[in-house]
Amino acid sequence: MKIVSGMRPTGRLHLGHYFGVIKNWLELQEKHECLFFIADWHALTNKYKDTSDLKENIKQMIIDWLSTGINPEKSILFIQSGVKEHAELALLFSMFTPKSWLELNPTYKDLKFNLFFQYLKDFLIGKKIKINNITPSESLDIALEKATGKQKNKIFEDYLRELFFRAFYNQKGIDFKSLKENLIKLGLNRRVVEEAINSLEKGDIGKDIDTLGFLSYPVLQAADILIYKADAVPVGEDQLPHIELTREIARRFNSLYKHIFPEPKHIITEEAKLVGIDGRKMSKSYNNAIYLSDDEKTVTEKVLQMKTDPQRVKKTDKGNPDVCTVFSYHKLFTDQKTVQDIDKKCRNAEIGCVDCKKILAENINRFLTPIRKKRAEIEKDIDRYEKLFLEGTLTARKLAKTTMKEVRKAMNLYDI
Ligand code: SF4
Repeated sequence: MKIVSGMRPTGRLHLGHYFGVIKNWLELQEKHECLFFIADWHALTNKYKDTSDLKENIKQMIIDWLSTGINPEKSILFIQSGVKEHAELALLFSMFTPKSWLELNPTYKDLKFNLFFQYLKDFLIGKKIKINNITPSESLDIALEKATGKQKNKIFEDYLRELFFRAFYNQKGIDFKSLKENLIKLGLNRRVVEEAINSLEKGDIGKDIDTLGFLSYPVLQAADILIYKADAVPVGEDQLPHIELTREIARRFNSLYKHIFPEPKHIITEEAKLVGIDGRKMSKSYNNAIYLSDDEKTVTEKVLQMKTDPQRVKKTDKGNPDVCTVFSYHKLFTDQKTVQDIDKKCRNAEIGCVDCKKILAENINRFLTPIRKKRAEIEKDIDRYEKLFLEGTLTARKLAKTTMKEVRKAMNLYDI
């Protein structure tokens, strides 16, 4: 089976990437014909203003991939922008892809929602709207009364999100009017609310992704996949709409011109969801990630900062591993017998969190040791390893050129 998959070069890879993508690729490369690419054009779709770190990010990605065992002898590894035919095919696809297919793309809408919501929240907090000062509706009022400190902020945020969600996912576009009314009804200062909503309405926010490139990146993604006539694509659940769009584009091309493209299947990747050390989604922007390139000391320090069961204040308190970030890591890095032992001891207050974290830090470091060793080897001779990607890019280009010859012929285009 031919498999195609790519990753955006946005910085060093962390453990979340390893368990979410790399681990799966390592298995796939053993059984299938794989093409893995560094999606540098995709990185530009929402980060086009400052490209100064793009080359360095690509280099780091090469090191991360190779040090974890992604193997150029087993798979074709390449850099997307080195195969210009992807862009040509995306352009041709864009001729017959209805705009509505892209505007309805859930990823596009969700990203916009998050940007708008973040802005609204920051704006209100920036204006020092105190939760205690508002006269909320009854249900919010009761919830706030019971809550304390940080919980209050969380409840307020959830409430705000709910209101914004209703206004955003409206059939006729964002319903700013009802959002404004609801926020004022909530007791927020009218002037502040009007100021925030006006900025959203004027379109200042989210301008960065209001580009043709961002809107049409699923078309480029379809070209990335179809140009190699891939049989399957490994994806997370959230990427399924994109693969469906790829299949729609393939169907449309095949019916308009000639049957050239197979409809690729999706392979749902069994993602082990790894949260960051603070219990939130692992992300560079939250500064809560453990990187594959972190040294032993850094990993130990990060593990010691990890969030545990918040109800367990003293060593003598019984803990609940099910709500503990450290324990969720143990399940991936620690042998089953020890995991069971920690589970029991934690519930009976027979192990302290610091000791529990030390065991984890040791196990993560043991896991990372061979990766670090390989990394050091690659870094010493980076030119040689970069060359492997350039060779892979030439191989991929040869395949892409063959498909493009067929495409041009089917569409009655010059092939010069
Ligand atoms: S003992 Fe371990 S599993 Fe239990 S709360 Fe502490 S860190 Fe978490």
